[in-house]
Amino acid sequence: MEDSRGSKKAGGGHKRITVIIGDGIGPEVIESALAVLDATGADLEIVPLEIGYKKWMRTGLAMLEEDLDTIKSTDCILFGAITTPPDPNYSSVLLRLRKELDLYANIRPFINEKLDFIIVRENTEGLYSGVEELAKDESRTVRIITRRNSKRIAEIACNLALSRRRLTIVHKSNVLKSDHLFLSTCREVAKMRGVPHEEMLVDTAAYNLVVRPERFDVLVTTNLFGDIISDVAAGIVGSLGLCASANIGDRFALFEPIHGSAPDIAGLGISNPIGAIRSAAMMMKWFGENEIAIRIEEAVKQSLNRGIMTPDLGGNCSTSEVTKAIINHLRA
Ligand code: ATP
Repeated sequence: MEDSRGSKKAGGGHKRITVIIGDGIGPEVIESALAVLDATGADLEIVPLEIGYKKWMRTGLAMLEEDLDTIKSTDCILFGAITTPPDPNYSSVLLRLRKELDLYANIRPFINEKLDFIIVRENTEGLYSGVEELAKDESRTVRIITRRNSKRIAEIACNLALSRRRLTIVHKSNVLKSDHLFLSTCREVAKMRGVPHEEMLVDTAAYNLVVRPERFDVLVTTNLFGDIISDVAAGIVGSLGLCASANIGDRFALFEPIHGSAPDIAGLGISNPIGAIRSAAMMMKWFGENEIAIRIEEAVKQSLNRGIMTPDLGGNCSTSEVTKAIINHLRA
């Protein structure tokens, strides 16, 4: 069952979460997110799982087969960030998890004092299909667009847009024939669901995101376009460190800040924990615990309004000072 934010109404009560802290700043920001969750009194059982660079150094593999069984025995994943091992044969753990667990919708809200929009990105196909032919003088990556996956991502986006203003379908069908199918499928779903919608070329969307971001509400797009315009959006709202995401399927979900492992600032105690904390709020919403999710979001807002910020936002607070401030607002 899904509500208007693409969430599963799993009901309240005890939940088991696989927590993958990962590498770089992953452990710091997830520690903050867990402290905030703890302060809400949510009934959560943490199942820690080591996946990532350190495991790869030790075993040659960033994730083992049995890790998938551990993950599947829990309700969802809260994920920090993984540093990509320097191995040409390495294939991304995150891409594997998205495919294995069929986490087909990547939902990325972008919020600051002036802006509030959501990018919904198809997460399993497009140019990230993994279908590639590599040769010395010519290489190909196959861009796969299916009606099934376009339809289900459009459904998720329409669920979100129904309780908001409008849907923007972002595509490049003037050049890419494969986008005809994506565009027409999204259009059909939006019409059927009665969702006000518009269509926009991805290059126009990128420009408009920079010059008139307030015009957007819910954007739906294919995998690579979603990946790229999300980072543009993160820059527009102020910092990658502020932004959260949910990777959602019909039965399982993975919640993660959109930033990577940021090795340049790992261990300095200055990483912005808000993306991870907001990801935890999205997780609670997916569990159907809307009140807890709203309380966390409010506490984040209040703390930001008071200028409690890490250096990426121009502040001089540490990760733990920001975390403490948010917890204090939660308890107030
Ligand atoms: P990866 O390959 O793991 O995605 P990356 O270096 O390409 O890593 P990020 O890790 O997202 O990408 O980092 C991009 C930049 O943003 C870095 O300069 C990093 O310090 C900064 N950054 C990312 N996340 C945060 C955060 N939570 N707080 C402060 N700065 C951050």
